[in-house]
Amino acid sequence: MNCRICGGKLESVITDMPFKVRNNSIVIIKKLPLLQCKNCNEYLIEDAVMEKVDEILARVDQTAELEVLSYAV
Ligand SMILES: [Zn+2]
Repeated sequence: MNCRICGGKLESVITDMPFKVRNNSIVIIKKLPLLQCKNCNEYLIEDAVMEKVDEILARVDQTAELEVLSYAV
């Protein structure tokens, strides 16, 4: 798969990624597998991973302003 921005090669990486949930909650998901462009650093989250992220975000404590969770396969 190639980068949608520059057409460069995408590389699988494991990284920590913040997600904004609702108005003022930030959830940091650690050890998230995603594809990152070696050329421009644009990243892409695969559909299967994004579904799992949605599940994780749906379980988050809605009153917390900042939550750090781990992406477990
Ligand atoms: Zn790129």
